[in-house]
Amino acid sequence: MLIAMKAGATDAEIDAVVRVIGELGYRAHPIPGAGRTAIGITGNQGPIDPSHFENLPGVAEAVRVSKPYKLVTLDLQPEKTIVRVGDATIGGVELAIIAGPCAIESRAQAFAIAETVRRSGARFFRGGAFKPRTSPYAFQGLGEDGLRILADIRETYGLKIVTEAVDEASLDLVERYGDMIQIGARSMQNFTLLRRAGKSGLPVLLKRGLSATLDEWLLAAEYIMSEGNYQVVLCERGIRTFSQHTRNTLDLSVVPAVRRVSHLPVIVDPSHGTGKNCMVTALARAGVAVGADGLIVEVHDSPSEALSDGAQALKLDQYEQMVSEVRAIHEVMAPAIVS
Ligand code: PEP
Ligand code: MN
Repeated sequence: MLIAMKAGATDAEIDAVVRVIGELGYRAHPIPGAGRTAIGITGNQGPIDPSHFENLPGVAEAVRVSKPYKLVTLDLQPEKTIVRVGDATIGGVELAIIAGPCAIESRAQAFAIAETVRRSGARFFRGGAFKPRTSPYAFQGLGEDGLRILADIRETYGLKIVTEAVDEASLDLVERYGDMIQIGARSMQNFTLLRRAGKSGLPVLLKRGLSATLDEWLLAAEYIMSEGNYQVVLCERGIRTFSQHTRNTLDLSVVPAVRRVSHLPVIVDPSHGTGKNCMVTALARAGVAVGADGLIVEVHDSPSEALSDGAQALKLDQYEQMVSEVRAIHEVMAPAIVS
């Protein structure tokens, strides 16, 4: 259920509804919108009697939510969420660009790439310090040393740091050094990790699982939001199909599909979505054209020497060219996005 407050409802009236929800043993999620505040309710197993709320001052209506998700839905919030990462945003008018290596390998490597990322005008730097690798013998990341390098990059270049947490212990560390928590495709249904991210004060980048449906992905976002963290960005990064010409199949149709049901921003990862350097720029252009709020792209100063995902990394000059191309497309797209 969600409670739609009247346009002029006062803070005291909203607080009173929140109190009643708490007294019933449920959790209230007040979401202020442009026209009105809506209050989502979670924690109930069955239907809630609307008469608890209907006569409270300031309440417009108590609406039953029939969908499996209660907080990611446009029913709760018709306006798109703008996720704020310090003074940078994802989901607003600006195209968000998150760029950097797959993994932080060394200070020299990370700084060489960050310099170009900064110069491109991107606001976010990516790089894994904890890498979820298919093989236990592959490079697993530098751990906390990698996070220290990332924190130094923020200091030097003012870039916001987006980096992956693979478990609760690494999430504690990401909170200490980073600006945005990445939850990887393989962790999309790690429900304890999702709940822990939901208790964080940092925004979360939630990648789609390798075989996740739209509903499963949105319910993963719902796990985070149900704990009180509403700053969630969805990321389409390709799914498993029978195709053999790419590492994954980038499902761009999911971008407008998300838009139809959710207020959360959605970005596209053409690097994992193709796995091939020669296809990344084409799919980055397509991602922006389909209406994504941003891109996350892997870049390396020497892809042939990369310790992970070198085959899909853009070289520095290719990255700069890609940024200028996607910005041009975004400019053409802007009126369509606003309307
Ligand atoms: C990554 O961003 O480097 C990564 C491991 O992504 P994914 O979880 O999408 O595979
Ligand atoms: Mn990678």
